[in-house]
Amino acid sequence: MFQNTRDFARHLDSQDKISKYRNEFIFPKVNDKQVIYFVGNSLGLQPKTAKSYVDEIMTDWAELAVEGHFYAHKPWWDYHERFAQPLSKIVGALPSEITVMNTLSVNLHLLMVSFYRPTGKRIKIICEEKAFPSDQYLLQSQVKFHGFDPKTTIVEIKRREGENNIRHEDVIATIEEVGDELALLLMGGVNYYTGQVFDMKTITEAAQKQGAFVGWDLAHAAGNIKLELHDWKADFAAWCSYKYMNSGPGNASGCFIHEMHHNDPEMPRFAGWWGQRKDRRFKMEPEFMPESGADGWQVSNLPVLTLAPYLASVEMFAEVGMDALIEKRDKITAYLEFILHEIDKEVESTFEIITPSDPKERACQLSVYLHGEGRNLFDWLMKNGVITDWREPNVIRLAPVPLYCSFEDMYDFGQLLKKGISELHSVSK
Ligand SMILES: *Cc1c(COP(=O)(O)O)cnc(C)c1O
Repeated sequence: MFQNTRDFARHLDSQDKISKYRNEFIFPKVNDKQVIYFVGNSLGLQPKTAKSYVDEIMTDWAELAVEGHFYAHKPWWDYHERFAQPLSKIVGALPSEITVMNTLSVNLHLLMVSFYRPTGKRIKIICEEKAFPSDQYLLQSQVKFHGFDPKTTIVEIKRREGENNIRHEDVIATIEEVGDELALLLMGGVNYYTGQVFDMKTITEAAQKQGAFVGWDLAHAAGNIKLELHDWKADFAAWCSYKYMNSGPGNASGCFIHEMHHNDPEMPRFAGWWGQRKDRRFKMEPEFMPESGADGWQVSNLPVLTLAPYLASVEMFAEVGMDALIEKRDKITAYLEFILHEIDKEVESTFEIITPSDPKERACQLSVYLHGEGRNLFDWLMKNGVITDWREPNVIRLAPVPLYCSFEDMYDFGQLLKKGISELHSVSK
């Protein structure tokens, strides 16, 4: 049903209901030409509105100085509260379950203070094999902090021999095996390497049935897939905002803490004055009384300048809506997959898509294992205006981000890929 032609790609663009958003972003240029950008899963492009949100704070700071905390255009002392409403829609939560603070790895540590409390024989943590390195380090260090051995305390869900992805039934089987020794399951909702999407609802249920807490690292999921964190009853989740959410390099993290934990006085947390009840925050009293909801996990005065571009982006997401985004995501990912298969037929060297082919098990990413040219091809693409991302040993990751990639980009990419492979091939002969 697809065709590998420019006309057909343009036809798909003409049917695209959210195509106008492409114009809302700034694309880098290579050889004076706008690049084809496939790494929105690593660092999203800059929305054109981002700068004015930052400028507004710079101006308020200049004109109001300390008074800006209360009298800025968007007062700084509760700036983070502007995220709760729009972000709650993006991740399927109640506004009170959302807060924005710190960065992702830091937040996962803070949330593990609350949700990783090994007791008796219930000490184990389940995660996926080859989780993102930061997640591996944080789990190892948390386990050591509690005096346990990571080797026997962290249980990784493995891929089967010769398979690229983790089977759902193996996740469930691992949970049942660990049983009442399971303290916490913490996984990526979307695997960063393969782009595999996990069935978070069923996994959450299965781990909670064993009496464990469940947390999700949504770095590759927020702004990419449909999430229903509240209904799935996930205990907690956190995500960075600079990937699909286009907030800018190293920017703040969003957190979700389920309502069922909001009024639990037994729940430990590492506190700071920004988590203090709003009406008492500036009374400077010695007793900590957490603000209700996820905001009660706040620690510090907020880095408002960095939150500004995130807010610009979140407001754009709210306007587009996840449903429209997902509709285009599935179509453009399928079109990219089609183009890859077409080019694969036309060239000598082969590549293999290691991302699941079932659209229910993937989102906006195709990871491609290059059996032929490898790193040289990646370099050639970069020089020729296709920005992809290289992962050892031989994988390029392609994320056709629906908010700003076009179907014509996919066609152009296919042509460049073919050209690159044939040029490299003739050089190597
Ligand atoms: C990108 C990513 C991170 C990055 O964490 P930071 O603390 O923002 O540097 C962590 N975990 C996963 C799964 C990621 O994909």
